[in-house]
Amino acid sequence: MAEYKCFDCNKKVSMDYLRKRVRCPYCGSKILFKPRGVTTKVKAR
Ligand SMILES: [Zn+2]
Repeated sequence: MAEYKCFDCNKKVSMDYLRKRVRCPYCGSKILFKPRGVTTKVKAR
């Protein structure tokens, strides 16, 4: 399962939250990254 981490609050964000829009469900940040593997930033428009 793919998991992202919030750039701001550092919490784990499941992919389910990112289906419709890329946004942290905890703090509302739009910058998430993958904690392991290739460093990939996902930015919402
Ligand atoms: Zn956050």
